[in-house]
Amino acid sequence: MSSEWDETCLVCCTKTKNRCSKCAEAGIDLFFCSPDHQKLVWNVHKRVCGPGKSNPFLWPLLSDDELPEMLAHMNETTGYLVGCEPECNTVAKALQHDFALPPDSVTLLITSCAQSAHPNASDPGSLAVQLVVATIRALEFARTGQTVVDLDLAQFIPLSSSYPWNAASVWDVNEAHDPSTAGLEQGTEPWRTKLRHYSLAYNTVLAIVYADERTELARSFGKHLQRIVDSIRTSVAPSNPTLATKLLERMELSDGVADVIRSCLRSS
Ligand SMILES: [Zn+2]
Ligand SMILES: [Zn+2]
Repeated sequence: MSSEWDETCLVCCTKTKNRCSKCAEAGIDLFFCSPDHQKLVWNVHKRVCGPGKSNPFLWPLLSDDELPEMLAHMNETTGYLVGCEPECNTVAKALQHDFALPPDSVTLLITSCAQSAHPNASDPGSLAVQLVVATIRALEFARTGQTVVDLDLAQFIPLSSSYPWNAASVWDVNEAHDPSTAGLEQGTEPWRTKLRHYSLAYNTVLAIVYADERTELARSFGKHLQRIVDSIRTSVAPSNPTLATKLLERMELSDGVADVIRSCLRSS
């Protein structure tokens, strides 16, 4: 198992042998170079850490911060999500469309995604819940103007309380579905677990750099992206070359975003 995972710190990407012990119990190798770096992202990582959470990676249900935000904005127009119907430009419309819901049950569905328990991979209903929470978070990301297509840094600053969850979810909803199949795939394949952890780590570090101006961490952006690219090449490409190509094109875009951020930090 360990050879499949990068032996690099989830935060700063330096080589290390120090694994998260709880995630190791769950059968995956996630590395932190120091207790300092593990603590830095603990508020985020703890929600997908250890047996029953880490492997397979299942999106945690909405937090107490996220739920009111999602309900308050569910009828506001969002940006366009690639792979979704263009008319599904609000959270409410997307949920009605994707799950064939009557309008008056949208609030109930969103509220039902805010329980405290973690989704259970062995529960057949949990994959549907996964798609709901990932869709809600992705549309919230789009609504707040945080699209990676727009390289305007001002629009990329995390605005939502659910960042980096929504930023990582947009990757799933927009990019990580197989273009050769009709539906959006939200499965529990090992490559998906790996890319979700790496994508979440990258977006968490982005948020930390903005909040605390820890510019030394900004230097790790390129390594974060390279780690994701490497895992696409080794874990996705052999079995699904079409999807791998699509994901790699997305990573070029992310590299452009990281470049803009780095240059802005240099000039400030
Ligand atoms: Zn580190
Ligand atoms: Zn862990």
